[in-house]
Amino acid sequence: MNIIFMGPPGAGKGTQAERIVEEFHTPHISTGDAFRAAMSQGTPLGIKAKEYVDQGLLVPDDVTIGIVRERLQKDDCQEGFLLDGFPRTISQAEALDSMLKDMGRQIDNVMNLIVDRDLLLARLTGRRICKSCGATYHLIFNAPKVAGVCDKCSGELYQRSDDTEEKVGTRLDEYLNKTAPLLDYYRNKGLLRQVDGEQEIDQVTSAISTILRGQA
Ligand SMILES: [Zn+2]
Repeated sequence: MNIIFMGPPGAGKGTQAERIVEEFHTPHISTGDAFRAAMSQGTPLGIKAKEYVDQGLLVPDDVTIGIVRERLQKDDCQEGFLLDGFPRTISQAEALDSMLKDMGRQIDNVMNLIVDRDLLLARLTGRRICKSCGATYHLIFNAPKVAGVCDKCSGELYQRSDDTEEKVGTRLDEYLNKTAPLLDYYRNKGLLRQVDGEQEIDQVTSAISTILRGQA
């Protein structure tokens, strides 16, 4: 089974991907990991990618696509894979389709986790850090006993400038705008499966699992 996982930052995509690969015994192909592996192994594409990364430049599509192709051709992917973080654009999606076609394969399901923007914002802006000891908290997931005060050292808690609603909101909107056409692309192919990502973590996993087992 060849699966793509999509979902905005804060939707819990990574957690769900981990659970699903465990249940279905399928490799979790994160493009970040594939890049790091290619670079550390010094493959020709890895070396090329490293030149861009070292200069702080965006790795061009042909290199990214090549790295994904090499990864998907490995033995552990022959029975299926879960792709996470790729494709990000229509042209990458088209390249993926054509490489899979060459291998006599195709994408079976595109799972998209849906979480309301306000909830994503709350999750992504909730981190607080202690000024004195550096302990981290989260207003929703790991709240301090007293608001604004570190449990361990009574230090003052602060919010990193990257975590503010304004910065996070901009990143989120960029993601949502950029991936909207990609969702349409897979919707038009009848592959897009929308999953309510606001349920409890276990419920989300079981909703995805039910779809993948063909029971929904
Ligand atoms: Zn502290």
